[in-house]
Amino acid sequence: MKMRDEREAVIAYSRRMAGDGLAVGTSGNVSVRTGDLIAITPTGVAYDDLTAADVCLVDLDGEPVDARLRPSSEVPMHTAVYRATDAGAVVHTHPLYATALSTLLDELPPVHYLVAQLGGPVRVVPYAPYGTEELARLGVEGLADRTAVILANHGATTYGEHLEQAYTRSVYLEWLCRLWAQARTLGEPRLLDAEQIEAARVAFGGYGQAQN
Ligand SMILES: [Zn+2]
Repeated sequence: MKMRDEREAVIAYSRRMAGDGLAVGTSGNVSVRTGDLIAITPTGVAYDDLTAADVCLVDLDGEPVDARLRPSSEVPMHTAVYRATDAGAVVHTHPLYATALSTLLDELPPVHYLVAQLGGPVRVVPYAPYGTEELARLGVEGLADRTAVILANHGATTYGEHLEQAYTRSVYLEWLCRLWAQARTLGEPRLLDAEQIEAARVAFGGYGQAQN
């Protein structure tokens, strides 16, 4: 089977999303790129029931190459991210706190230095219907110099060199949104300035894959 390891990884990470608060039901989707092929979750199948053969392979234009089920409705967004960046994996989620924040703000306030792992304050891009080229275009615009974007009244998308990194960034993004919400219940949070975020970004860069 073509891309068996990547297909298995897509299933493993899809199954983690609900427990990590990143998605409910079968919402959210995960993809991995190898060369000109993308392994991506099919639409509407319970993650517990997925087998490697159910995971769809599509090309960079979203055309099915090996797909016995219908690929995720967000294929346009995944392929747009691959075409616009050096991503090796893309994770699209419907997390509670990031989505709540998307209804209130245009940007995730920099409440913690971990925001530097995402390239800086994460943008909220305007609403567009799910699965559309318009949403894909807005998402890619919001990802300029960032590895995460929040989609208004919808959810979030992150990418990374590999699936573990893309997924961890989704976890960080949701934690940062939750931290902001928690702080806001107590008062007006103090924020980091651009210089402090840049220093954190440089420090992360110096430690390669450092996660702290
Ligand atoms: Zn979605």
